[in-house]
Amino acid sequence: MAKIRVVGIGPGDYEEMTVKAVNALNACDVIVGYHVYVDLVKEHFPDKECFTTPMRREVDRCKMALDMAREGRDVAMICSGDAGIYGMAGLIYELLGEDDSIEVEVIGGLTAATSGGCRLGAPLTHDFAVISLSDLLTPWELIEKRLDCAAAGNFGIVLYNPRSIKRRDYLQRACDIVLKHQPPETVCGVVRNIGREGEAAEIMTLSELRDYDADMFTTVFIGNAFTRVIGGRMVTPRGYKDV
Ligand code: SAH
Repeated sequence: MAKIRVVGIGPGDYEEMTVKAVNALNACDVIVGYHVYVDLVKEHFPDKECFTTPMRREVDRCKMALDMAREGRDVAMICSGDAGIYGMAGLIYELLGEDDSIEVEVIGGLTAATSGGCRLGAPLTHDFAVISLSDLLTPWELIEKRLDCAAAGNFGIVLYNPRSIKRRDYLQRACDIVLKHQPPETVCGVVRNIGREGEAAEIMTLSELRDYDADMFTTVFIGNAFTRVIGGRMVTPRGYKDV
């Protein structure tokens, strides 16, 4: 039966790919993905045929992958981080519907929240919410509501897609919503280019984060009311008792 694997490749470096993801890419005939992700993995799988598509052509990319699978090729569709977190896994299932002529296997990966979190210290040791600031597919009002609810619930918050060319002030707006519930000194962190060239992590306050110039390869961490800096690391205590 035709088969497609939807593979999360982790943040970027080979060491942070799961063994299962490596095995999947070794087993496939072709690798399909956004060119940045294909560039990250292709040196480790030199004999594989690769097909790239530009960003924002997600539906085309998935259709291309499904067509190749229908032609009888063993396809791996790669996504950064985890394929099911703002990735292509759901879209593949949606496009296939009840068509069971293609077997789908989703292979999990290390998402930016966890790969970035460990660069900062241990910011996610208690409950946290993951929110994307991209309003391409979600109305901004709903994003604001989710930010408000997460901050009201004293969740740690991880922000994906904090910035794009058209959305310059979204991080600032997000911080303003959190500032309604949390003080400006709240411990925050940013990690850029996790596992890629130019990787950098920085700890700052919520008011500093408000003015931070994030790019599209940045993941943002907003601590909860108990998050502290310990030994230069961003740490959210596991319990809320004083230790
Ligand atoms: N499926 C991916 C998320 C894709 S959404 C995952 O599970 O990680 C794209 C957003 O993810 C980026 O805007 C950024 O906020 C975050 N991101 C993904 N990879 C990253 C990396 N290597 N370094 C920093 N942030 C990253």
